[in-house]
Amino acid sequence: MPAKQRKIALMGFRSVGKSSLTIQFVENQFVDSYDPTIENTFQKTVMISGQEYALQLVDTAGQDEYSILPQSYFMNIDGYILVYSVNSQKSFEVIQFVYDKLLDMKGNIGSIPVVLVGNKCDLAMEREVSQEAGRRCAEKWKIPFLEASAKENQSAKKVFEQIVTTIEKASGNVPDQKGCILS
Ligand code: GDP
Ligand code: MG
Repeated sequence: MPAKQRKIALMGFRSVGKSSLTIQFVENQFVDSYDPTIENTFQKTVMISGQEYALQLVDTAGQDEYSILPQSYFMNIDGYILVYSVNSQKSFEVIQFVYDKLLDMKGNIGSIPVVLVGNKCDLAMEREVSQEAGRRCAEKWKIPFLEASAKENQSAKKVFEQIVTTIEKASGNVPDQKGCILS
């Protein structure tokens, strides 16, 4: 089976760990000081449920409540990873703004694959957003939710597997345990 090409955008407030999650996944390392202003596209080929995926990961420079999102964030993107950090209430508010913007641009967001990620879950002492608050938000939007730590390599891989699975589900391809396609 040929590799499926999928393009995924990471969005969210600055400094939440979009680049760190991406680099942890792509290069298996935690980079402490990655230029926060660059937007970069990373490539990684992975095997998920017996299918090879050639992933293109658009690591955006970040958004705030005033951002006007460029068209390129909506064209040819198969799925979105919306990242906040659990030690920043502000970043949690910004992610709701980003979600609303996606809704405006895409219309029926029910069909857009989105995963919500609360990063920096290693910072227990500095937590401002409870796991419960993250989960409730994702339930409201009917999307998957994960907490992660790029620093401690916790769930970084899972985040990307989850968005790929969510993209597959949205397009009606739900592999069962044996790797067959259910219609
Ligand atoms: P971005 O602006 O969203 O791309 O954020 P970066 O990936 O550049 O990370 C911003 C800062 O947060 C950097 O100093 C990272 O080292 C730090 N950081 C990223 N992920 C984590 C994490 O999971 N835990 C902790 N403690 N720090 C993190
Ligand atoms: Mg970055």
